[in-house]
Amino acid sequence: MEIAVEIVTRFAPSPNGPLHLGHAFSAIVAHDLARAARGRFLLRIEDIDGPRSRPELSQEFRRDLEWLGLTWEEVPAQSTRLASYALAAERLRALGVLYRCTCTRKEIEEAGAQPGSDGLIYPGTCKRTPPDPSRPAAWRLDAAKALALTGALVWEDALAGPQKVDLAGLGDVVLVRKDLPASYHLAATLDDAADGVTLVTRGADLFAASHVHRTLQALLRLPVPRWHHHPLLLDETGEKLAKRRGSPALAARREAGEDGRALAAQLRLQHLPLGT
Ligand code: GLU
Ligand code: ZN
Repeated sequence: MEIAVEIVTRFAPSPNGPLHLGHAFSAIVAHDLARAARGRFLLRIEDIDGPRSRPELSQEFRRDLEWLGLTWEEVPAQSTRLASYALAAERLRALGVLYRCTCTRKEIEEAGAQPGSDGLIYPGTCKRTPPDPSRPAAWRLDAAKALALTGALVWEDALAGPQKVDLAGLGDVVLVRKDLPASYHLAATLDDAADGVTLVTRGADLFAASHVHRTLQALLRLPVPRWHHHPLLLDETGEKLAKRRGSPALAARREAGEDGRALAAQLRLQHLPLGT
């Protein structure tokens, strides 16, 4: 017998740039999944990327979502949760699954790193030779050590079905950045647990990240949600919309007087409005 779990989804935009159609689609998918199950739909502003973060955009995001006809509960922004990230990083260090890495992007490229499912796979330089302790360092997850502690793990995607955790595609990811107490992986995993998210809804471009997040849940003994990685919207040439330049931001459409609810209705049918 399955125990009924309240469906809690979230939309977690980063205020680094305005929202576009792909974001709107993602927010609508998460919103509708929650509403269809009489669950909750949360908005979480992922604003820890200090230098790139533009606080004024958060208010714009709320206007965009309202314009699309969505309703939500807002949970605290990531910038208010830094202490919980530092605490979790401390626990991971105590488990021995983190190592310091001082490499710059250039050094990683020059070390012959191979492309993985999300950029280059870290070639393990600082794992083999611990770096100078006086240089500023990020902390990476030692995927092999993590696997030895967790054993084989599985997770469930609502569309793709059961998945075996496989960290090979991402390698030893950064969990604590040089300049911040967390990376996206650590912050999002902790926040989804703290916010009681039961269905992590996001684009298929982040599918591989879920292997890391499932591993962190096991290491930190966090509740395990289900995932729903939705396909990315494609334009008429089959190109990912997110990659396409020049598509007007939601805010620009809104300010030009476009009907946001009508746009949302089109996106629900996965029809791209003409001239996007
Ligand atoms: N802040 C992330 C982004 O905008 C959220 C990714 C996620 O939903 O986990 O890409
Ligand atoms: Zn390194």
